[in-house]
Amino acid sequence: MHPFSYTKAADTREALNAGRSGGRYIAGGTTLVDLMRETVERPGTLVDISALPLRQITVTERGGLRIGALVRMGEAAAHPKVRTTYSVISQALELSASAQLRNMATIGGNIMQRTRCTYFRDVTAACNKREPGSGCAALEGFNRSHAILGTSDQCVATHPSDVAVAFAALEATVHLLGPDGKERSVAFADFLLQPGSTPNREQAIRTGELITAVEVPALPRPLRSGYLKVRDRQSYEFALTSAAVALHIRGGVIREAKVAAGGVGTVPWKLPKVEQHLIGERPSASLWTAAAEQASDGAHPLQHNGFKVELLKRTVERQLRIVGGDA
Ligand SMILES: Cc1cc2nc3c(=O)[nH]c(=O)nc-3n(C[C@H](O)[C@H](O)[C@H](O)COP(=O)(O)OP(=O)(O)OC[C@H]3O[C@@H](n4cnc5c(N)ncnc54)[C@H](O)[C@@H]3O)c2cc1C
Repeated sequence: MHPFSYTKAADTREALNAGRSGGRYIAGGTTLVDLMRETVERPGTLVDISALPLRQITVTERGGLRIGALVRMGEAAAHPKVRTTYSVISQALELSASAQLRNMATIGGNIMQRTRCTYFRDVTAACNKREPGSGCAALEGFNRSHAILGTSDQCVATHPSDVAVAFAALEATVHLLGPDGKERSVAFADFLLQPGSTPNREQAIRTGELITAVEVPALPRPLRSGYLKVRDRQSYEFALTSAAVALHIRGGVIREAKVAAGGVGTVPWKLPKVEQHLIGERPSASLWTAAAEQASDGAHPLQHNGFKVELLKRTVERQLRIVGGDA
């Protein structure tokens, strides 16, 4: 680990001042410290933001949900409002990491976490994300867990977060506070960036900006929702594929459909074609199959991950059936 200095911000102003001077925010520390140990990350100054007042979950005026950036994953998963109104969020969180990690890790840190690509975490391997221009060892290497959607010739790493898939499906918004004290909001779809020719740029966050909250919009009720995660072992493992689904069904007809996939994209992958296929239709087994058939549209499998094309369709189909019923 490289030497670094540590400071604990007493309030938001102190944190932003330190962030402006190049300090790196640390919340739960569950992923940043790992990366520092592996020397993938080498911040000179850590700014502990854990004492900032960003730990509330509130219902917005419009009936959505605002989850503070420092809310622990475990707290968000267990919150009655999250459980009852957006079970897709609690399920995605409960299927993430371990209970110990969820008690420490925060929502802001979760959406900022970096890829689990082994070549990114191995400082002896070529990785354009870690070291721009060095190449991508995954392209010719073992790429079974890598992305099939949103890839470029520079990077094929997946985004590892589960709850980010739920946020993408629900079309959440990320609230940010800049070092100049100005607030701004970014649609979740624009917050996590596909690699293109700059895989080292992963989020639409500016130097020194602090995530203050993630806001999930109100959706018509009743809303059925849930998250399915397919992985090599049943716990403590990242997704090979996953599906976040939310459906508003009234009068026997699907009026709203929100669907996104994880484990397959360089960012959480929204599935608008699947959504469009569902809206206005009556739930049925054949509808789930036909809609899910479009989940892998545009996929570019690599040497070892071709299985994800079919697995993704089946994951989406199964989760549509679980959420929408077998009628
Ligand atoms: C063994 C293991 C298994 C895991 N399994 C899963 C899994 O299955 N699914 C899953 O989704 N995740 C998984 N994770 C990742 C875990 O969810 C993240 O480590 C955690 O969410 C990060 O939150 P944190 O508060 O600890 O972030 P930190 O480590 O403190 O920070 C992470 C990054 O976010 C930045 N940051 C933090 N808060 C803010 C803020 N408010 N504003 C701006 N920047 C900020 C930091 O600067 C840093 O770059 C796993 C982690 C481990 C170690």
